[in-house]
Amino acid sequence: MIKITTIPGDGIGQEVVESGITLLESLDLNLEFIEAKAGKDCFEKCGTTLPEETIKKAKKTKATMFGAITSVPEKKSPIITLRKELNAYANVRPIKSFEGIKSLYNDIDFIIVRENTEGMYFQNETCEKNDIAIAERVITKKASEKVINFAFNKAKINNRKKVTCVHKANVLKKTDGLFKETFYKISNNYPKIDAEDFYVDATAMYLVMKPQIFDVIVTTNLFGDILSDEAAGLVGGLGLAPSGNLGDKHGIFEPIHGSAPDIAGKKIANPIAMILSMSMMLEFLGEKYYSDKINIATENVIKKRKSLTPDLGGNAKTIDVVNAIIKEIHEIK
Ligand code: ATP
Ligand code: MG
Repeated sequence: MIKITTIPGDGIGQEVVESGITLLESLDLNLEFIEAKAGKDCFEKCGTTLPEETIKKAKKTKATMFGAITSVPEKKSPIITLRKELNAYANVRPIKSFEGIKSLYNDIDFIIVRENTEGMYFQNETCEKNDIAIAERVITKKASEKVINFAFNKAKINNRKKVTCVHKANVLKKTDGLFKETFYKISNNYPKIDAEDFYVDATAMYLVMKPQIFDVIVTTNLFGDILSDEAAGLVGGLGLAPSGNLGDKHGIFEPIHGSAPDIAGKKIANPIAMILSMSMMLEFLGEKYYSDKINIATENVIKKRKSLTPDLGGNAKTIDVVNAIIKEIHEIK
């Protein structure tokens, strides 16, 4: 029996987590889902966006499914806190073109690994007399080593040829200087994988002009956040982009989109980003067989273009897409 914590959160977060559970329950796996609360709804009912109880529950399971939350002004982000609490230090976002989705290129296939626990999202901001606002940006050797090692390992396991370190060490000499230096030190342990580094601004341009040059990108928190949304836009947008927050003991799996209040409750949220995140979760749990099947089935459903939600130009409901993928999973040999 594998226990999984589910944090549906707000808006379409709840709808896509339900989709993920429906899909997982259709597989021949022994899973148990334990629901926990977080987000705006939770704040309105119990005065906190992330109850201690939720952190406790998540710490007891290896994997957590996270939907999306609507942010509450003045409150720290629950997902950022959760990533820190579970030491899910590497945020992984696969970026791959889908056949059947109109996008800038049809031959993109790379992975972004983003440091997830510090950097610009260290969450220590101060204000001096309302005139000066300061955000602390913390880069440590230890956290850099962890995420960079993770990226090289990921490259090795997935037969990737190159890891690109993205930074701005020409301006952020100390912080990104440390990140870059750590990158090249660790690269020595992986002689078969090429190591190179780019400035973040140049990377933003190359992602648009020649994204095929990338294989695995490793970068600090804020840069990774921005570049991975840019990259998601290259291959079909928010509704298709999965992510995993991986650590040594725990993983949190979430679509990269938010709670989308504009379409919440209409039953038209695209569940694919969540479903692809479930594939990443099963891989993390050692269930590679179903992880691969989910990916192939989802690609097939997208290619056929019969069961797609309005954001992808279709007129299917969320549940139609889930059912189409389940059907496809059982038809793949
Ligand atoms: P939040 O503040 O929670 O991030 P948001 O309004 O910024 O909410 P996002 O989820 O970040 O919403 O996405 C922006 C827009 O993209 C949404 O308004 C929605 O129309 C669309 N969108 C995002 N995810 C999906 C999805 N899974 N299915 C369909 N449309 C989506
Ligand atoms: Mg948003």
